[in-house]
Amino acid sequence: MNKVHRLNDVQWYIREIKKILVNGHVLPKNVNKYYNRDVQYINDYLCNLGISLNNFSNVRGDSVFENFIIAEYSDLKQIIKNVTYNKNDTIPQKILKIYNKFSAKNINNLIVDKMGVKVCPYCNENYILNRGSKRTSVQLDHFYNKSQNPLFAICLYNLIPVCAACNHIKHTNQLNISPFDEDIDRESLKISYNFINSSYLEDKNSVEVIFKPEGNSGKQIYDDIKRLNIHESYKFHNDYLQEILKKRIIYTNSQIIELYDSFPRLFKNKEELIRIAFGNYIELDDLNKRPLSKLTRDILKELEIDIKI
Ligand SMILES: [Zn+2]
Repeated sequence: MNKVHRLNDVQWYIREIKKILVNGHVLPKNVNKYYNRDVQYINDYLCNLGISLNNFSNVRGDSVFENFIIAEYSDLKQIIKNVTYNKNDTIPQKILKIYNKFSAKNINNLIVDKMGVKVCPYCNENYILNRGSKRTSVQLDHFYNKSQNPLFAICLYNLIPVCAACNHIKHTNQLNISPFDEDIDRESLKISYNFINSSYLEDKNSVEVIFKPEGNSGKQIYDDIKRLNIHESYKFHNDYLQEILKKRIIYTNSQIIELYDSFPRLFKNKEELIRIAFGNYIELDDLNKRPLSKLTRDILKELEIDIKI
């Protein structure tokens, strides 16, 4: 549902993969020798499949293999469409083995740290935080599942940090929209509400969360939401929804301006005031920081909060 930003620095990822590849060849003087030898085998395999440096929008690694594992999502999408290979070949299976060492090498933690995502981008309901260096509540979902697509098992932008519930329900299913997809208009899926009857101030069951897809993009996102059963768990957020509606009665547009003017040094800007008043982030770039931020943002927009978001 929510977008995850690409990383500025991806060299750390190449270094981590290098450490796994040379594992066992312990003498430091041999590291590059063994790494280059292993990478040569993989490069040859990728080249035979027709994958070359031309496939990558940004060339930042030293070899086809290095560029392949840090390839942008849009490049991966093209490559996976055009390449056919036998998943039981030595190289795809070798790549799968590299991935299987990720949790022992703590790479899962590192990925979620570097991506700066605190909440599952699929459901926007559950925190995915590291609990110390070796403990984490995050799981890595392979957007293109690894049993069908082992060659892509360690491609950085095929790895989505998600909550256990989303990972479990998605299993090997294919979703339409990756959190790394930059071409999709995520505003085309709106989270909205519906009054079941007029007593919503007293009874939370008088109001319900609904999803409003618009156009083809909205429909694709909504299909993913249904595939992950997220529409079912959002039924339980009617209490949260009721709170937003009540808070909106307290915090009218003029009340917000008054508060902002009354405490000139308390708030960095009006967005911060709204975050504190409504208890959530509402700006597009902040939606992975707190659960239900997308719901909060969309409902506040619908309630015509007087701020450009
Ligand atoms: Zn989730």
